[in-house]
Amino acid sequence: MVPSEIRALFAVVSRPEVVSLAGGAPYVSALPLDVVGGMVGDLVAGKGAEVLQYGSAQGDEELRARICEVMALEGVTANADDVVVTVGAQQGLDLLTKIFIDPGDVVLAEAPSYVGALGTFASYQADVVHVPMDGEGLVPAALRETLARLRREGRRVKFLYTVPTFQNPAGVTLSAARRAEVLDICAAHDVLVVEDNPYGLLCYDHEPLRALRADDDRVVYLGSFSKTIASGLRVGWVLAPQGVRTKLVLAAESAVLCPPNFSQLAVREYLNTQPWREQIKSFRELYRERRDTMLESLDALMPDGCTWTRPAGGFFVWLTLPEGLDAKAMAPRALAERVAYVPGTGFYADGTGQRHLRLSYCFPEPHRIREGVRRLASVVQQEIGM
Ligand code: PMP
Repeated sequence: MVPSEIRALFAVVSRPEVVSLAGGAPYVSALPLDVVGGMVGDLVAGKGAEVLQYGSAQGDEELRARICEVMALEGVTANADDVVVTVGAQQGLDLLTKIFIDPGDVVLAEAPSYVGALGTFASYQADVVHVPMDGEGLVPAALRETLARLRREGRRVKFLYTVPTFQNPAGVTLSAARRAEVLDICAAHDVLVVEDNPYGLLCYDHEPLRALRADDDRVVYLGSFSKTIASGLRVGWVLAPQGVRTKLVLAAESAVLCPPNFSQLAVREYLNTQPWREQIKSFRELYRERRDTMLESLDALMPDGCTWTRPAGGFFVWLTLPEGLDAKAMAPRALAERVAYVPGTGFYADGTGQRHLRLSYCFPEPHRIREGVRRLASVVQQEIGM
């Protein structure tokens, strides 16, 4: 296990003079904090004996039923018995990797891929093989070729890990046409699909898309309340076919006994009593404005030769520097100019990605995003001139 590049950045970017386009923290201050506070206080006063007690390893039953209603917004039909509540989607990833991976087994993942997942895969000594993406997400032909090659080499592929909607870090979305194709290819090779979908409801240009799991019950689906309610609650879930789910519950029991009742029942109460659908709509409006601000600033200010993605949801823009530039080498110079981003290399298991960097627009306010992009553009301009 090695520290992630993002963690190493955190200490520096918290300085107030630095505009951080690095972190992926949701803007939780937009929640009605006084209302949530009152709700939690009432919950402890009224149901303290339950809230402050251990619970089941699989998670609170009523919460699992509410989770099924949330997933229905993306076309998923699910039974609460098949949901396992976890300490964030991150623990879901950890438990899945623990039950599936023996050292040296292959996990397929998009190039680039979520850094937290790569860290988990590394900690169980999985061998991550990347599959390229383009503007429409994972490239089916490349997936087919990679699977055929790995089969010829006699490698054991355990699952495809994918963030099909508003991907972290690339900000791209798997097109509708490709969704069926990716599912077909994986079915033909008997490879499990793990769909990680924390951003699906944060869509800014269209209604929520159908999740991969909506069209294939064999898909293992990871969900989270980190972005739709609050990341500090640490409540996520896994929806999995029965055989996988049974093992997940055993693994969860040995990891944490049970997910925290306090957080689970706070989420349950929030979903039962608060206008959570309207709250998600207001998060969409907030983040849409920030996304627009970032794209307009990039369009206006970035030097020729840079390209970037145009996310329809989620938190991230993926920027590619002109040939010959190195985002990691540039990072300290950008920090000296008081702007931070995440260099792309952390999102690849194979050490590539030098020309790329991730920009996030979820946390800084629009005027800070504008200023951050202005500083970044000037740093890139200097690099080009060097
Ligand atoms: N998957 C992806 C793609 C993410 O971006 C994140 C959070 N940054 C997670 C999983 C982990 O989320 P959680 O807070 O639910 O553990």
